[in-house]
Amino acid sequence: MQANIEPQQGLAIGIDVGGTKIKAGLVNQDGQILMAKVLVTEKEKGAEHVLKKIVQLIDELKSSTTEKILGVGLALPGDIDYQRGYSLCCPNLAWGELEVSAPLFKSTGLPVKLVNDANAACLGEFYYGRGKDAPIFLSITLGTGVGSGLILDQRLFTGRFGSGVEAGHMIIEPDGYPCACGGKGCWETLVAAPAIVRRTREKIKQFSSEQLSVENLSVELIFQAFRAGDPLARIVVEETIYYLVLGLVNLINLFNPHKISLGGGVAEAEEIFSPQLLEQINNKVFPTLRGKVEIFKATQGYYGGIVGAASLWLHNVKMI
Ligand SMILES: [Zn+2]
Repeated sequence: MQANIEPQQGLAIGIDVGGTKIKAGLVNQDGQILMAKVLVTEKEKGAEHVLKKIVQLIDELKSSTTEKILGVGLALPGDIDYQRGYSLCCPNLAWGELEVSAPLFKSTGLPVKLVNDANAACLGEFYYGRGKDAPIFLSITLGTGVGSGLILDQRLFTGRFGSGVEAGHMIIEPDGYPCACGGKGCWETLVAAPAIVRRTREKIKQFSSEQLSVENLSVELIFQAFRAGDPLARIVVEETIYYLVLGLVNLINLFNPHKISLGGGVAEAEEIFSPQLLEQINNKVFPTLRGKVEIFKATQGYYGGIVGAASLWLHNVKMI
């Protein structure tokens, strides 16, 4: 009856491995980060090199405390086999099938549990953020891609290959822009930060903008131009909300969630949470679901993945 075993008391190390940075933290039972460390990934130097950096981070955090460390939660950007402790396919790290947990245990003496990074962000928000206690909870991260995690009946939905729902690859425009997954017109190609920048650049070439130029474009600059009344930025922001709504409506109709968190760089813009968003969602969702879902900005921010990965040791996380 493993499901009823309560987790032990102690600290946990959470690590979030991204394509550019490895973020690590020592986390207590309340989800507070006692110490955080960040290293550049340098994925081009190969998996061995990245694993060595992870070992270095674990050793540094371990030596910073005398308290018991229960284990390490390691979030990876891709498909994983969490039962065997293997990466199956992490394109952003250029990792294929690779044994991860056992070699890290051998080097550090700490047991290592793996989780997909979007699922780690979801767990962070579910245990320590505003997603707390929502029986059905969906977390969406709008960053360089679109990450998503789903809690169903208080359990993390991991699916067959460990990454659970891949909402970013719902096809929204069948003949749309090519996606990194090999498909076309995925949600990610419309609402992730690079997609918003790309659409803006295309429009500037076509119509020109007073406030924006094709060089050094960023989502922050686009939203700034919107606030300053730039008509082209206005079109881009309205389009972004429209595409965001299409994806969210599909997800709401599919899962009937109690709550949805939106995180990542794009969700930093307050315009994303405009009344327009909820109004358009309510116009499009299945009638019984109108006004029933709480949508909010993710509260766990930059270190959400660390806290979520650590929760694998600090909570009795059930997976389906
Ligand atoms: Zn895709």
